[in-house]
Amino acid sequence: MASTPRVFSGIQPSGELHIGNYLGAVKNWVRLQDGYECIFSIVDLHAITQAYDPSELAQRTRDMAVGLLAAGIDPARSILFVQSHVAEHTELGWILTTVTPLGELERQTAFKEKAQRLESVPAGLLNYPVLQAADVLLYLATLVPVGEDQVQHLELMREIARRWNHRFGAGFFPEPQPQLTTAKRVLGLDGQAKMSKSLGNTIGLLESPEAIWEKLRPAATDPARKTRKDPGNPDICNIFTIHQGFSPPPIQAEVAVKCRTAAWGCLDCKRVLADHMIAELTPIRERAVDLVAKPATVRAALRAGAERARAIARTTMAEVRRRMGFLGAAGD
Ligand code: ATP
Ligand code: MG
Repeated sequence: MASTPRVFSGIQPSGELHIGNYLGAVKNWVRLQDGYECIFSIVDLHAITQAYDPSELAQRTRDMAVGLLAAGIDPARSILFVQSHVAEHTELGWILTTVTPLGELERQTAFKEKAQRLESVPAGLLNYPVLQAADVLLYLATLVPVGEDQVQHLELMREIARRWNHRFGAGFFPEPQPQLTTAKRVLGLDGQAKMSKSLGNTIGLLESPEAIWEKLRPAATDPARKTRKDPGNPDICNIFTIHQGFSPPPIQAEVAVKCRTAAWGCLDCKRVLADHMIAELTPIRERAVDLVAKPATVRAALRAGAERARAIARTTMAEVRRRMGFLGAAGD
């Protein structure tokens, strides 16, 4: 068992890092580094479950590393690595499929949503949560900072851990818990679906102040505010969710009052939000520009991260193999 609580979380290199990822997960990752041993992974083996261009995967993976480092992931304190660089993820992933109930996989909302858009559904999409369970359990991590869309996968992960433990090793795998933020579900700019890399409804974390404003200005708000004089309900407004991620609490309180009383129009509210977003994102964008100019630094951070991750993963796998009775695992 891990002696100190360990944090694990991952992000797919399936597109541009966006403010939904940041507010729902990455901003929390940065904060957790102060109190926990943290392991963060760019989960490329997950990204290949969706249609993708092989000629772009490496660059997307590099870009994601730049974004995470710029956002404040500190490779001196945390482990940051690329999932496919640590082969134990696929090994444990396969092993865990043997204790995962098929019915549970078929019930996952993310699977059903992604599968319904496809004519032919790859088994990898179905098994996605099993690989995710392997990602976390490999490091015996207990805390998983994620957005709300991952809560169901975490429930299944605990079920998988319990089933494996029951069969092979009482208490070996801890049961990981999700950790959510206030902006746990940021909607896309059209206010319809969740903001997603794969849906093209995002504001990128590294966009310029002008681009941020251009996207924010026409973004959907509470539909009850048809005219400037109609009061709104911040609790159901996506712009208010984003305020909760970027604006200080007194501003959030002011925004809520001015929305409910129609003292501000939506555009006034968005302008205040844009100012706070730009203030927080400008230093991140500047650090990213710096890192892009230093590819060797990024490469070295990922290489060192993979080595540290592998060392932990190997120890876990040796024990998993021994408890499962594989030849050679107990020195026989
Ligand atoms: P994809 O569309 O390829 O699934 P994504 O934008 O959903 O991409 P992921 O890599 O699947 O991003 O998720 C990375 C992290 O960001 C996860 O913890 C996820 O819960 C969180 N997250 C993703 N989208 C949002 C969102 N709209 N609001 C809050 N958190 C989010
Ligand atoms: Mg996703």
